[in-house]
Amino acid sequence: MTDPERRRQQVFVAGCCVVAAAIVAITMLAWPGGESHRLTASSAAHHTTTTAPPTTAPPTSTAAPATTAPATTAPPPVSTTRAPSTTTRAPAAPPPTTAAPITAAGTTGLTGVAGKTVLIDPGHNGQNYAHTTQINQPVNIGTKTLTCDTTGTQTKDGYTESTYNLDVALRVAAILRGAGANVVMTRSDNNGWGPCINERAAIGNRAHADVGISIHADGGPVTGRGFHVIYPPSIAGLTDDIAANSKRLALDVRGTYHDATGLPYATYVGAGDGLSERSDLGGLNLSDVPKIFIETGNMQNPTDTGFLERDTFRQQAAQGIADGLARYLRGQ
Ligand SMILES: [Zn+2]
Repeated sequence: MTDPERRRQQVFVAGCCVVAAAIVAITMLAWPGGESHRLTASSAAHHTTTTAPPTTAPPTSTAAPATTAPATTAPPPVSTTRAPSTTTRAPAAPPPTTAAPITAAGTTGLTGVAGKTVLIDPGHNGQNYAHTTQINQPVNIGTKTLTCDTTGTQTKDGYTESTYNLDVALRVAAILRGAGANVVMTRSDNNGWGPCINERAAIGNRAHADVGISIHADGGPVTGRGFHVIYPPSIAGLTDDIAANSKRLALDVRGTYHDATGLPYATYVGAGDGLSERSDLGGLNLSDVPKIFIETGNMQNPTDTGFLERDTFRQQAAQGIADGLARYLRGQ
């Protein structure tokens, strides 16, 4: 294939870290210096050693109405690294240490969600790196086998994706609950491992959620900026019942997230329109409720990181996501 074609293929597979180790391996070959975001715990461990306990402070401030996730008692050294080199990453920042409740400020006027059940899935978990056996157990996603979960990415100064994802997710949950929604979370702290991707989907199915979203930040190329939304294609027997609504959800959230944050569409994914259709994500393939992933920004890009590490931005991001879910629910 030509170089442009190869680049397109590479960026197509860029995205969330629940991609199979096989795809990671392919990308590692095709894109040296590629994404730690998609490394499984085992593949990451193959390429690096566990880093020292964190010493840097979490990127928090007191400016926003919401606060960050509860503290953990154990530091989360991260075992991911940029593939395929053996460079050691900066120590991971500990999860934020403040524990004040996240408020639903700014939700006045959010309509369409009262009485609805919303699944919120913060990607990864803070202790995944320490549970490689569990995280690497195979799970069937309908089209193939993937690992249970992955560790996620982190910023250059050690702000972990699992911490970030939970922070944004709790803000979204607070906004939606403030507007009368029934929110179901796949995890509510950053202190454990998993759940596996099939269980993350099952939680939404069992809840008969009206809509679901997995919240992530990406480990894209350092020069790549922006966010994108991932939706499933129609796969017979798997997603054929949710594909159309998931695409509509993707369009709704893309618009409101863009408006709320000002972040550009990802410059390194697909056609640059902020959308990516993927059939290799268990959290989507196994969902029986309309669902998308949002890669809210690129943790490898310095400009995006500057936003992601601000709690004022994370509140804007959460508001944008909540607005998109509401827009979708109003359109049902
Ligand atoms: Zn992720």
